[in-house]
Amino acid sequence: MSDTETEPHATSHGAPTDGARPSVAPRVEVLAPRDVPLGGPRAMTVRRTLPQRSRTLIGAWCFADHYGPDDVARTGGMDVAPHPHTGLQTVSWLFSGEIEHRDSLGSHAFVRPGELNLMTGGHGIAHSEVSTPDTTVLHGVQLWVALPEAHRGTARDFQHHVPEPVALGGAEIRVFLGSLAGAVSPVRTFTPLLGAEILMPPRSSLTLDVDPGFEHGLLVDRGDVRLAGTLLRPAELGYARPGAETLSLANESDGTARTVLLGGPPFEEEIVMWWNFIGRAHDDIARARADWAAGAARFGEVLGYDGDRLPAPELPHVPLKPRGRGR
Ligand code: MN
Repeated sequence: MSDTETEPHATSHGAPTDGARPSVAPRVEVLAPRDVPLGGPRAMTVRRTLPQRSRTLIGAWCFADHYGPDDVARTGGMDVAPHPHTGLQTVSWLFSGEIEHRDSLGSHAFVRPGELNLMTGGHGIAHSEVSTPDTTVLHGVQLWVALPEAHRGTARDFQHHVPEPVALGGAEIRVFLGSLAGAVSPVRTFTPLLGAEILMPPRSSLTLDVDPGFEHGLLVDRGDVRLAGTLLRPAELGYARPGAETLSLANESDGTARTVLLGGPPFEEEIVMWWNFIGRAHDDIARARADWAAGAARFGEVLGYDGDRLPAPELPHVPLKPRGRGR
């Protein structure tokens, strides 16, 4: 996915004051989504919960777009022309539909529900993403992971993994990165990470053992889900600070709840995020932009996409400033 929003506007609010709560700081911060049009020839809009003004990262997770369920007959589905990435990994995770992925490694893959596609754009990669003609409903998430300084310029890479679902109580959990509920993803990452889809039956609850060194984000796709005492509505992202050894989830709706749990140790480096690039300083971004505009070998070439590649937007007139993770 390509970020069309070069100056993110942030919204967030504290935990809702539902019911009588003790007068302590809420353990979970509610990050509300904002609608962002994806651009390109189609009319698809995504709900973005990361980054925002109050929070840039959760662990190394630095970008969270949530979309659908979209009737592609109405929205036209996804058609993102070849575009570059640096300094980050992209995670594509679908609930329904199918996306055709092509990248400058020569990968030609189909992103399908329940299957992880992890693309590493360290020094530079380019890719295109197009929903397939058979797709009627497109529904899923697109996530980015910031690479730590030591691996920021790593070689481009693409990995595919299909996690076995594990049962915990009545819940069904697919761990695509890291470990949870006894399941361990074999996919390697550059910082410790957790990424899992969790399905919960109506009116059920679940207690997960988690790493107390991790901070967590719970993105609600469907259902009303209470995370550690705070109610989250669909499309909200609940942020839980490090320190807890367990996370409690309760599905307070009459249907199956679907959430995506993200986690990792706080990412302490400051980053500059602009368009599809992550660097540490303005000049990293300006160089990447110039390299893309010049068609540099750094990004390689995407073969098989029917159309032109995306041009980079103009850089803002003021220098891009590094941002920390948030407080
Ligand atoms: Mn992309």
